[in-house]
Amino acid sequence: MIAPRSDAPYRRAAAEIVEELGGDAERGLGDAQAADRLARLGPNELPAARRRGPLLRFLLQFHNPLIYVLLVSALVTALLGEHVDAVVILGVVLANAVVGFAQESRAEQALAALAAMARTSATVVRDGRRLRVPSADIVVGDLVVVEAGDKVPADLRLVAVSELRVDESALTGESAPVAKDPAPLEEVGLADRRNMAYSGTFATAGQGSGIVVAVGGRTELGLIHRLVGRTAGVQTPLTRKIARFGRVVTVAILALAALTFLIGVLRGRPVAEMLTAAVALAVGAIPEGLPAVVTVTLALGVARMVRRHSIVRRLPAVETLGSTTVICTDKTGTLTHNEMTVTQVAADGRVYEVTGTGYAPEGSIAHAGGPARPGDHPVLHACLTAGLACNDAQIVREGDRWGPVGDPTEAALVASAAKAGIDTVPERVDTITFTSERQYMATLHADGTVYVKGSMERVLRMCGDRLTGDGGREPIDHGELTALAEGLAEQGLRVLAFARAELDPGTARFDAEPPALTFLGLQAMHDPPRQAAADAVRACRTAGIQVKMITGDHAATARAIGERIGLGGPEPLRVMTGAELAATGDEELPAAAERAEVFARVSPEQKLRLVKALQSRSHVVAMTGDGVNDAPALKQADIGVAMGRSGTEVAKEAADMILTDDDFASIEAAVEEGRGVFDNLVKFIVWALPANVGLGLLLMAAVVTGGQLPILPVQVLWLNMTAVLILGLPFAVEPRDPDIMRRPPRDPSLPLITRMRAAQILLVSAILLAGAYGLFHYEHGVASEAVARTVVVNVFALTLMTYMFNCLSLDRPILLRGVRRNPWVAVGAVALIGVQLCYTYAPVMHEVFGSAPLGGTAWLRAIAVALISYVLVELFKAAYRDSTGAVSRTRRPTLP
Ligand code: ADP
Ligand code: MG
Repeated sequence: MIAPRSDAPYRRAAAEIVEELGGDAERGLGDAQAADRLARLGPNELPAARRRGPLLRFLLQFHNPLIYVLLVSALVTALLGEHVDAVVILGVVLANAVVGFAQESRAEQALAALAAMARTSATVVRDGRRLRVPSADIVVGDLVVVEAGDKVPADLRLVAVSELRVDESALTGESAPVAKDPAPLEEVGLADRRNMAYSGTFATAGQGSGIVVAVGGRTELGLIHRLVGRTAGVQTPLTRKIARFGRVVTVAILALAALTFLIGVLRGRPVAEMLTAAVALAVGAIPEGLPAVVTVTLALGVARMVRRHSIVRRLPAVETLGSTTVICTDKTGTLTHNEMTVTQVAADGRVYEVTGTGYAPEGSIAHAGGPARPGDHPVLHACLTAGLACNDAQIVREGDRWGPVGDPTEAALVASAAKAGIDTVPERVDTITFTSERQYMATLHADGTVYVKGSMERVLRMCGDRLTGDGGREPIDHGELTALAEGLAEQGLRVLAFARAELDPGTARFDAEPPALTFLGLQAMHDPPRQAAADAVRACRTAGIQVKMITGDHAATARAIGERIGLGGPEPLRVMTGAELAATGDEELPAAAERAEVFARVSPEQKLRLVKALQSRSHVVAMTGDGVNDAPALKQADIGVAMGRSGTEVAKEAADMILTDDDFASIEAAVEEGRGVFDNLVKFIVWALPANVGLGLLLMAAVVTGGQLPILPVQVLWLNMTAVLILGLPFAVEPRDPDIMRRPPRDPSLPLITRMRAAQILLVSAILLAGAYGLFHYEHGVASEAVARTVVVNVFALTLMTYMFNCLSLDRPILLRGVRRNPWVAVGAVALIGVQLCYTYAPVMHEVFGSAPLGGTAWLRAIAVALISYVLVELFKAAYRDSTGAVSRTRRPTLP
């Protein structure tokens, strides 16, 4: 029997725990054994927050001020003896709850799917083999390996560590990473258990392995989690703003309704009639559907982004994306494919050409037109050997293609060595791993040789001399070598320098820095730019978004790639190096950061400075990152973007958004979707509000002028159920405006509804008021009250329909184009006409809603209002467009 949770494992020897849990500190669990434990003890997942059951969620739909109003009015209506009306009101309440429930479920599903996609994976050893498995599949007794950048997937009793440091801030609040050590401890608190690594914490440096002692809800994280529960938020600043707006409006309208009632009664009108008027006013004027529409639109936007390869981790990011003004992006892997192939090797004063494509170990090395056998070129041979020795990657054959395992840069070096027939190196005894800050990697081998590879600048600084063709050494000509490296970099090649040193055979470890080195040569690799990225950069430029490349690579390489991608457009690129960045003070940095398009040899810490500098110029900054040290910059950025494939778990956790394909084009696509979401929301709100305002004004006018009620509560409910729903739905599937990336970014400080849009809402409300009020009195003069009210309902329905066509674009007429783009618009219009004919002519409707058949001229008058409204709104849009020009939403010029 497996103990599901080992007792105080930190106080006992690691071996004892391994034994007790039936594990193996070398080979891990067997595959079958792990599968069996998983099946019996369940997945390594935190218990899901107890979700509200469907019944409760349905009932909660009734928890809404408007519904209270409706329920009260149903009661009042029933007491007044209007039983049909009371039933209709209750039916509408029910229908409203069903629609709300369906919308909410849809939004929740979209978000749950996202959470599932953002799950992490981890490395375990099973049957002696390392494999990457979903963190959920980890079981007690598993041997887990964590490396810098990994999220610890379960509670581990560490068995071996190598300079492992863990960021436990999520658990203990301590922000400095903790050094780990497997030795047993006395009884101590959580923060001091240095031989444990807890679920939910992050390895920031080194590596280690440990045996899983607890999973899922039994981990320390799980215990905390159970205490605080989870706040599964679908709220964003925008939804909160809208909800607040909704509440304020509701209260205001309820007050207005009460006032209307009072005024009417004080002026001697019958109480029952005034009660009816107040109810109609409350029902008609409260925009109860708005908050739900906002949430659903955001959720649908998120779902569309997933299809375009970006996973949004925090819903507010959808809003921010649309306002992005600068995208700072990595070069390698994001703007380029990160498919490295060595094309040139410089050694011993010669430049050799390397043929072959991809990672296949097939190709030749030639010099001056003839093949160069490594035997005749000892420095070349040494340089290629260094590339293979100082290397953690492999190349593997999959079908007829060769692919990299590990860092593509290193895999390319395995391939180039293989082309010269070099495939073995002496056993390795110690390693200094590559990091972007360090800019080199070093390995120590059993024969005492030290191999180093890294950036030209960094390696050259460590070199005392260089190897010559006769096996001797001579002083380095720094100028010549630097010029050589720059020549290669200017072709867009990624250049690595190689060096070696001889220590006493049998040296077991590096002491601090490697010794003075002998320079061997350079290898230059080609990394093809992504075509889609180039297109996306162009799209960003037209959209008023600056794109900046931030890379650890050489300035010349970065410039060449930047030019191929079209970063500067027609202008020459302005490049700033990490050294220049370091020399620039905080006051000058914002201007400098805004000016340059390429930042080369930049360290992750400098990324943070850059983000802050750009933000100080009120930019909305999206920043990509993949490493542990990128996390602060990702957090600081308005949109932190992590790489789904090459990124560490730390980076993903810090990010707002994850790219599943690491492609720059996906960031651009996400921005596009973010803008689209906003556009659709604005379109919907601008379309929906006039109905509320118009109905409110109409009823108040009727009470104030003392005439008959032009519309009854059930008729208002009919409009809410038919016109508002049928015509509102097409907005949910409205495609992005093709012009969306030809506008400048949205200023986040602007309100959703600008003054001009508010004016448009008032204009349409006024048309509705005038049309409905005027026609009601006219028809009442020549026909019955029922006919007059039927005309009013049709005026609202038809005008909302023509106004829907107005709203398909907020600034230009797009009648037919709009229909072609979104056929649901036509479906909605036809459906609405259908239900209105039914409303007007079906006898059952006459019974239930008090409608009456209309003659042809009455129809013509109602249609005339709708058409006049269409024309006036188009004129308004045109005037708006001309008065503000294309820069209506600009916050600042695109280019300095
Ligand atoms: P980026 O990811 O922006 O291209 P890196 O920080 O990965 O930049 O690389 C910076 C420089 O470090 C490269 O130009 C190269 O010279 C060197 N370099 C890159 N990868 C390795 C590696 N695995 N080992 C040693 N040096 C490397
Ligand atoms: Mg890199």
